Amino acid sequence: MNSQPKHKVSVATVWLDGCSGCHMSFLDMDERLIELAAFVDIVYSPLVDNKIFPEQVDLTLVEGSVSSEEDLSKIKKIREHTRLLVSMGDCAVTGNVPSMRNPFGTEKVLQHVYLKHAPNAIVPRLLPRVMPVHQVVPVDVFLPGCPPSADVLYFALTELLAGRIPNLEDATRFGK
Ligand code: SF4
Repeated sequence: MNSQPKHKVSVATVWLDGCSGCHMSFLDMDERLIELAAFVDIVYSPLVDNKIFPEQVDLTLVEGSVSSEEDLSKIKKIREHTRLLVSMGDCAVTGNVPSMRNPFGTEKVLQHVYLKHAPNAIVPRLLPRVMPVHQVVPVDVFLPGCPPSADVLYFALTELLAGRIPNLEDATRFGK
């Protein structure tokens, strides 16, 4: 990335049913975040103060699967207001760890995990099945990994900022 664009690209990051490890990986880009800040405005994220999703966002990275009614309404709204949607990490791409509850059914999980071990927890109403993001809304780019490494995230972001859909085989070939 050599020159600063006239208009910065608006970027959001979203945390659905995930462990926050993908966001930790995002932060692991370290000083490259400063380089990216010349090209990008983070307009909504658990990492910034703004908690209202803007009317239109250029690029949204989603961590986590769709596991609750809250996740479902959030991702549908975000899709409506996002130009390019990226599934960031295996939970978003496949369901991964959260989907391990699927074979047991919601009621059994609620009883065992919440009523037995955390009876005072307030839990959003769970969906009958945990789903990867693309089973609910169209996804433009998939970044697998648990979590995807900071190098892969940086590669993908720089490709997207250059107007290209990242080819992750290139990331591997270049040792990312
Ligand atoms: S993909 Fe891995 S690191 Fe990312 S939210 Fe899921 S469990 Fe955590």
